[in-house]
Amino acid sequence: MTPDETATPPAAEALGASGAAVRDAAPADAVGGRVPRYVARPPDTAAAADLLAAAHRLGLATVMRGNGTAGDWGAPPDRVDLVLETTALRTVEHAAGDLVVRAGAGTPLADLQAQLAAAGQRLTLDPLVAGGTVGGAVATGLSGPRRLLHGPLRDLIIGMTSVRADGVTASSGGRVVKNVAGYDLGKLHTGALGTLGLTTSVTFRLHPRPEAQRTVSAAAPDTETARRWTRAVLESGTVPAAVELDRPPDGPLTLSVLVEGAEGGIDARADTVAGLMGGAAVAHGPPGPDWGALPGGPEDTLIKISVPIGEAARAADCAHEAARQQHTTAAVSGSAGAGVLFAALPAAAGAATVGAVARSLRAGLDGAVTVARAAPGLADDGAEPDRWGDVPGLDLMRAVKQRFDPHRLLAPGRFTGGI
Ligand SMILES: Cc1cc2nc3c(=O)[nH]c(=O)nc-3n(C[C@H](O)[C@H](O)[C@H](O)COP(=O)(O)OP(=O)(O)OC[C@H]3O[C@@H](n4cnc5c(N)ncnc54)[C@H](O)[C@@H]3O)c2cc1C
Repeated sequence: MTPDETATPPAAEALGASGAAVRDAAPADAVGGRVPRYVARPPDTAAAADLLAAAHRLGLATVMRGNGTAGDWGAPPDRVDLVLETTALRTVEHAAGDLVVRAGAGTPLADLQAQLAAAGQRLTLDPLVAGGTVGGAVATGLSGPRRLLHGPLRDLIIGMTSVRADGVTASSGGRVVKNVAGYDLGKLHTGALGTLGLTTSVTFRLHPRPEAQRTVSAAAPDTETARRWTRAVLESGTVPAAVELDRPPDGPLTLSVLVEGAEGGIDARADTVAGLMGGAAVAHGPPGPDWGALPGGPEDTLIKISVPIGEAARAADCAHEAARQQHTTAAVSGSAGAGVLFAALPAAAGAATVGAVARSLRAGLDGAVTVARAAPGLADDGAEPDRWGDVPGLDLMRAVKQRFDPHRLLAPGRFTGGI
């Protein structure tokens, strides 16, 4: 259906007819500097579907919001009329015997983990931002260090219910019956930053909480040693849950290996890892609160670097060198074991500097380099950096967007290639 700009009754009334609570937006609701007209909070999937159908008829550009902890990921949307808030979508159905949970998109991840922990289980994600929701985590698609053993977030999703831009609800996999058009919705929506649809609930595969944990850490004297240690640990049969690297602007590269499992045997596994890392220190218990945290401050620009596993330590060096050449610094951390790193550039680094660092990394590394989160005000700098670089499969992604949201009503322009 073609969006109808002149629809009556007035938009707020039409949106409210869905059963969602609708209010006028305030400056604090701005997304990427743009203040929407309305904020709506549907109570359930059916109301969310009616709301999106009404927004579609009215031609309203809609941006989803969970708790708003990561609303600055991706490019600022070209326009925003309506913010759809998911915070009322909070059901949790835990099938402990099947190691499966279905959670509403607005469920805070911390609440979900607390509920699962009571049954000795967990959704294997790493330290999350306070307040982040299930829907937000899926939409940003970030997988923490433990992806090495248990796979990235998208592989933990076994089913999903989502609502398309025109209000049509689709479910796939898991405990739901209807599989629409053969798409694997979980894989499409993970990391799509809400540009393909509203996720209303997600069914995840769970794991038992490990009995014991050990963290083995050592500072590597040089990049080549860090690369060798990573390789030796990954090939050792000690089955690490994560191999993380941390390379602050001025300081050595530290490698930390997390070993999880049953009490019996864990010390032997940790000792083997320590031996492979030149006699590293072994800490008992769960890793510290900073484990898996993104580098830098909350307003720094974050560049995401994905490289072949053996290249992670070198990529951290390249980020330092690229930043140095632009007279700035980079704090780098991430998963040496999975080849995914983040480099934080200070919030004061302007668009030209960020663009130059990203270009230099793309030229020097065999992998993908994206500006995942830009410092506030970077877009106003008048020299918007190329956030995405060359994206393989862009035509396919555009075709999927065309199929799901042909009128470009969902966070238009937030994703690569103007999607
Ligand atoms: C410092 C930091 C560290 C992090 N570490 C990790 C980590 O280790 N592991 C991990 O998994 N995640 C990590 N994340 C991601 C973070 O936990 C999630 O982004 C967070 O859960 C977002 O939730 P939110 O409700 O605040 O989302 P919001 O900020 O409200 O939204 C984030 C994005 O998701 C879209 N969105 C939100 N809800 C929906 C929905 N229901 N349907 C469609 N689109 C939606 C929004 O439009 C927006 O683009 C990290 C993020 C930050 C900033």
